[in-house]
Amino acid sequence: MLPPHPKRDFATRLIAWQKAHGRHTLPWQGGEDPYRIWLSEIMLQQTQVETVLPYYTRFLSRFPDIEALAGATEEEVMAHWSGLGYYSRARNLHKAARRVVSEHDARFPEQFDAILALPGIGRSTAAAIAVFAFGHRRAILDGNVKRVLARVYGIDGWPGNKDVENRLWQLAESLLPVADIRAYTQGLMDLGATRCTRNKPGCVDCPFSDDCLANIQGRQKDLPGARPKKALPEKTTAMLILKHGDAVLLEKRPAPGIWGGLWSLPEYPLDIDPARAVAGMGYGVGAVEKCAPSRHAFTHFRLNIQPWLVNVDRPTFAAEPGCIWLALDDIDSAALPTPVRRILSSLRVL
Ligand code: SF4
Repeated sequence: MLPPHPKRDFATRLIAWQKAHGRHTLPWQGGEDPYRIWLSEIMLQQTQVETVLPYYTRFLSRFPDIEALAGATEEEVMAHWSGLGYYSRARNLHKAARRVVSEHDARFPEQFDAILALPGIGRSTAAAIAVFAFGHRRAILDGNVKRVLARVYGIDGWPGNKDVENRLWQLAESLLPVADIRAYTQGLMDLGATRCTRNKPGCVDCPFSDDCLANIQGRQKDLPGARPKKALPEKTTAMLILKHGDAVLLEKRPAPGIWGGLWSLPEYPLDIDPARAVAGMGYGVGAVEKCAPSRHAFTHFRLNIQPWLVNVDRPTFAAEPGCIWLALDDIDSAALPTPVRRILSSLRVL
């Protein structure tokens, strides 16, 4: 006999579970300030709560409201995001804050379409903001929710596939409760993050353990379906660490592009002689050292970096536009991509 279908009382059970077992003390919970809720939703995209917490606190203490964020330079915003990854989130957050100030009189818009129109806010994020800040009845469908729904309802296929995603959206909308939308939405997030995790789902303590199709059929590992396998392309580059005393030369990366707006090391093709390249830049070249290579995974490719440490004896401290000399002691507070920070941190212990 088929198990009872959970659809009818899915929301009721989830709300009850959230109230008893969900998360209630996260710093962005308990208030209805759309700025704080928006910030948390953007930081939480592809990033776990534990990682977000210190960034969220630091960011808010420097940019306590939307006007403070809109009035900041991109450099400051990027410096406070540095290390959190997916930097287009920070650039869009900054752009959106400026737009809210100029087009909405510094009041975060309440209407769903106006939220969705802001840079960096997709359908699910707009819905989460509409729910938590304004109590609107909207469906969310982030990665965690896709996993929960695919498992409970046995929906096969990779959720990145449009047809699968459309089915999940229809399901998510059909399940919405009439009341208690905040607890329901938080419950979906909490269940996905704390019980129905990707690798070790805690089915024994799950409110849907009796009728979740993945649990009944032992298919937790198969649902949701994996992205069709495709080897990630690899890119390789050389980075030059021009060092004079305790300072290194950094260039600002153009936006858009990877690490756009962040400070990075000058990049060169692998086959170039680093000493000649640096001499060509007009510097007197001292000792040259090949450093340990570094590897970094992006969503769409892997980047292999070969760093070269080149001591220079004639730094142009008033560097060309778009370049700075940065003391190694200051790398923790500068807006650097994580792999570059890691490469430079290793120099401090030499
Ligand atoms: S029973 Fe297991 S697989 Fe199903 S929703 Fe709960 S935690 Fe996820």
